[in-house]
Amino acid sequence: MIETPRDLYDGVILDHSKKPRNFGKLAHPSHQADGRNPICGDEISVFLQTEGEAFSAFAFSGQGCAISKASASLMTEDLRNRPPEQARERANEILQVLGQDMEGDPFERYGELGALTAVRRYPARLKCATLAWHTFLVALAGETTASTEDS
Ligand code: ZN
Repeated sequence: MIETPRDLYDGVILDHSKKPRNFGKLAHPSHQADGRNPICGDEISVFLQTEGEAFSAFAFSGQGCAISKASASLMTEDLRNRPPEQARERANEILQVLGQDMEGDPFERYGELGALTAVRRYPARLKCATLAWHTFLVALAGETTASTEDS
């Protein structure tokens, strides 16, 4: 039996929360949304600039717990080089994966993103991990605000 690579999960989360990738604001984004997770106090804004069938810029800003920040950082790295439509499908897939048990090794299947599946050990933190992804989808849909408490 293979043990859960707990150190690996924690290492990736810690690294991305301390040194978030693509962190900052865009002055004139084509899409922008502000996401809030009132339960934990996380606030994540997602900024996108689309150019044809690609993102020419992809950034996030905000404040919150380590998981919310790491998730946003990992998300930008995972999505920024995908065509917007594919990024949308990917975000929906990851949101689904985070909310359920997955067979096999999450790192093998999702690379560093697999670290986010650690939230299954802390169900109360699930919304911290999903916030950035929801906010991205809202931004891409052309809307401006997202909350984990909307039904
Ligand atoms: Zn949080």
